[in-house]
Amino acid sequence: MIFSAAAKRSFDVLVVGSGASGGWAAKRLAEAGLKVAILEAGRPQSDNNFTEHQPQFELKYRNMAHEIIRKTRPVQSVFDVCSEYNYDWFCNDIEEPYTTPKDQPFLWMGRVRMVGGRTNVWGRVSLRFSDWDFKAASHDGFGEDWPITYADIAPYYDIVEKYIGVTGMAEGLEELPDGQFQPPMPLTCQETLFRNRVNKKMGRTVTLARSANLSRPLNGRGACHFCGPCERGCMTHSYFNSAFTTVPDAVSSGNCILITNAMVHKVLVDPQNNRVNGVLYVDRNTKKATEVRARVVILCAQAQESVRILLNSATPRHPTGLANSSEALGHYLTAHVRSAGGSGELPAAGNTPTLGGPIKPVGIYIPRFRNTKKGPASKNFLRGYGYEGDARVDFNWEAPGFGAAYKKAVREPRAIMDITGFGEVLPRWENFVEIDPAVKDIYGIPVLKIHMADSANEAAMIKDIGESAGEMLEAAGAKNIHTYAKPSAPRWALHEAGIARMGSNAKTSVLNQFQQTHDIDNLFVMDASSFTSNPCQNPTLTIMALCVRSCDHLMEEMKRGNLLYNF
Ligand SMILES: Cc1cc2nc3c(=O)[nH]c(=O)nc-3n(C[C@H](O)[C@H](O)[C@H](O)COP(=O)(O)OP(=O)(O)OC[C@H]3O[C@@H](n4cnc5c(N)ncnc54)[C@H](O)[C@@H]3O)c2cc1C
Ligand code: SF4
Repeated sequence: MIFSAAAKRSFDVLVVGSGASGGWAAKRLAEAGLKVAILEAGRPQSDNNFTEHQPQFELKYRNMAHEIIRKTRPVQSVFDVCSEYNYDWFCNDIEEPYTTPKDQPFLWMGRVRMVGGRTNVWGRVSLRFSDWDFKAASHDGFGEDWPITYADIAPYYDIVEKYIGVTGMAEGLEELPDGQFQPPMPLTCQETLFRNRVNKKMGRTVTLARSANLSRPLNGRGACHFCGPCERGCMTHSYFNSAFTTVPDAVSSGNCILITNAMVHKVLVDPQNNRVNGVLYVDRNTKKATEVRARVVILCAQAQESVRILLNSATPRHPTGLANSSEALGHYLTAHVRSAGGSGELPAAGNTPTLGGPIKPVGIYIPRFRNTKKGPASKNFLRGYGYEGDARVDFNWEAPGFGAAYKKAVREPRAIMDITGFGEVLPRWENFVEIDPAVKDIYGIPVLKIHMADSANEAAMIKDIGESAGEMLEAAGAKNIHTYAKPSAPRWALHEAGIARMGSNAKTSVLNQFQQTHDIDNLFVMDASSFTSNPCQNPTLTIMALCVRSCDHLMEEMKRGNLLYNF
């Protein structure tokens, strides 16, 4: 949907980005009656683009010509979710580059340029944070506490989970609060065995990875039919993707328009009164620059992209970037480490391998057990990590030999349990993003330079993740155990956060607890850049819950007569 007339109109609220956060902001505000425009850099998404049922042999290059994809997406294609099926959903790395210092490589993957943003291709694991996370600084003395408690956000987790649909098992854990779950998808025999043995021998919980895949129909969306590759779309809309949920809800309210191919360059500031009054965007097809006006601007473009917009919006009054009187903007970059784990062989338990599926799109999750109230403290690092994993019976693809003996050996079932750690990275001032004054993208917009290096804390945590993976696989009775613990770049987890952080002190943070900038009251940033720290649980459920809470605050303010500026 492209509404070219938008440029001539003005709105109550502009939402930049249509992914996890932008979709929710638009839905919440438009359904309540506010006039909203979503400005989305990507193309419209449609069921016609979905290829989850298309076999590889139907593709031009059989999904085997990775070099061809690498020519335009050398960074995006490092992660195999970007494949011949969907590579044109991702940004062209040559046209939209970023830079890093030579000795600090950072792979900024998952830069999707479609309506729905990263929710088109995400892994869907949806976990709550707890006060163990929000008040982590009080527990261990590092960094700052969040300006909210679990009780503040819990009702919004409920709203989001009930709408997106999360399959999960209640476990009653303080560090991983239960939610509003759909019935759990079953664990495989090997996952059940692993759950039971690890719990019995080590007292640790292994649970179904709480995941935004429907086990029951919801709001016209079908239950998941276990076809497998959700990152290629889903015709039955059985996983959560804002392209077929929140964004169409917002548009069908009659109060929201979606402007696609709109690459926002900067937020516009009224020099008379220090308020923002719109944005300037570049149409990706025509390269024409256009201004759109509104009473309120909400950035939801993904953490680095939103901060890039703020830094590019500097004015004489805000010389180091908009809303940056604290000088914290761009600093405290965090991104999960995901470079350690392990695998081992479990009994096939009578299961036979098949090429035809079904393929359960949800595995297991091992919640954080280090540095919690009950779990053992680590002398070597602060905070903690969880694991994602799965086990299913497969063919013995690595069988040696040839001929009839090889064919027989390949059919021998093998059940591999694989677990990968996701670890919290401490928010440190030295990890930051800035504008690279020497480089622009093809739209003429200055790009980011990303500075990120691991500290001793991450190095010690990564080592522990590898060792603990081995211990748990051993406790489960796995054979042929293999563990690994590598330095953390590249940042496979794609969970970047923290560069416009929330805080109660305007001198040390960019946003207040409602993701409203301390400096400019009608400017909000509702993606993960607002996180005060980046707990090891996957971030998106919290991104969405915070966004809904902040939108409700915004509307309360308007009801009180605030934020109703004319422009
Ligand atoms: C492969 C993969 C697996 C993941 N797995 C998980 C998981 O299991 N669990 C989890 O919690 N999280 C996961 N994530 C992360 C999750 O997808 C993100 O946390 C979430 O989508 C972020 O929401 P967002 O609204 O900030 O950004 P996005 O969802 O990325 O949306 C941002 C949108 O803004 C648009 N945009 C960017 N710049 C501009 C601009 N200048 N002007 C206009 N529009 C702009 C983009 O095109 C995009 O559509 C995964 C991510 C990837 C890539
Ligand atoms: S596995 Fe389920 S959610 Fe994923 S694409 Fe298939 S039907 Fe959709």
